[in-house]
Amino acid sequence: MPVLMTSRPTTSSESKSSALLPQCGNPKCKSGWLRLWRSREVPVFEGKWACSTACVREMIEAAVLRERRDAAIPPATHQHRVPLGLLLLSQGQITQAQLKRALDAQKRAGSGKLGEWLVRQKSTGPEQVVRALAAQWGCPVLSVDAFHAASMAPALPRLLADSFGALPLRVAGRTLLYLAFESRPDPCLALAVERITGLKCEAGLLRDSEFQRANAALLRAVFPRVRLLEASSLRGAAHAMTAMVEERKPIETRLVRVHNYFWMRLWKEKSFAGSKIPLPGAGEVEDMVCAFSTES
Ligand SMILES: [Zn+2]
Repeated sequence: MPVLMTSRPTTSSESKSSALLPQCGNPKCKSGWLRLWRSREVPVFEGKWACSTACVREMIEAAVLRERRDAAIPPATHQHRVPLGLLLLSQGQITQAQLKRALDAQKRAGSGKLGEWLVRQKSTGPEQVVRALAAQWGCPVLSVDAFHAASMAPALPRLLADSFGALPLRVAGRTLLYLAFESRPDPCLALAVERITGLKCEAGLLRDSEFQRANAALLRAVFPRVRLLEASSLRGAAHAMTAMVEERKPIETRLVRVHNYFWMRLWKEKSFAGSKIPLPGAGEVEDMVCAFSTES
């Protein structure tokens, strides 16, 4: 569960009087005693209070650089995975003739996944296809049972769900979030959702028809308000994020990177502690999704 602390850390070396004073979360803070005249509660960025706009900006710039650097390491790729067609063939699920027919149809149409063609031509069933895909990616096949679109929509911004074919499926035991993917799990998105929500994220696949049905319901649900932005530079991205944090004065803010997006989430209030699942309501948080080019 996310810890939405607004208190500032104090060190044991501080005297009794200075422990009562707010401590700015910016390690390079220069504002000295002037900060005492500023709000002692908000805004909070990554658990730390920022005393001024300049400090918010420096903290966000540092976080942007951290995300840029850390996410430059590509997530583990499945270089040696067996192609779906060969896998189904080796399992005896389809024949060589059926595989060839599906590949030909796919080539002629210039679209569609091989699995879809195999199912359409009745060479195999959707269940066999999703199991083979899950084996390819080393992830589980998830079930759409107990999916509740309205409570799951606040898990991540719609733009990110759409872009990466992801669907927040359900929360189990208040600590585990099942994130379903349409065709291949994205470890980078799963990690981002994990860091933002504070829930352990288990990525898996859904059968095509189940994904489409659940996704249609999700798209009708209310998502948190989101500000979308295209940044020409990292500095520009940090500038826009600073402006939003200064404007909204959130009690907590988190910033992660998902491929070529920065996703920043702002918590307006701490009010989901007593709710059924440990996700905020759509009105309790606000997102910023900032697209940037890899050259920036
Ligand atoms: Zn400061």
